[in-house]
Amino acid sequence: MAVPKRKVSKARRDSRSANKGIKPQTFGKCQNCTEPIMSHQVCSACGFYKGHKVLVTKNERSIKRAEMRAAAAKDAPVTEADSSEPKE
Ligand SMILES: [Zn+2]
Repeated sequence: MAVPKRKVSKARRDSRSANKGIKPQTFGKCQNCTEPIMSHQVCSACGFYKGHKVLVTKNERSIKRAEMRAAAAKDAPVTEADSSEPKE
């Protein structure tokens, strides 16, 4: 019968069993956009938590910024005229 040459040390034994408790993370689905989300956390895709809007997402911020820039571009000729008048 094959016999281990040495005793398995406590450190070696315990480090082997350290990974036994690790389980794959479970994901839920966002109620708003059906994106996979961690439980008890806000959906990063749409900013909803339990059916309520709680976060302004990065995408929404960029859309709003683009709208602000477009509005500023419309007003830009007026502001340039205003800024050039005091220089004269
Ligand atoms: Zn969502």
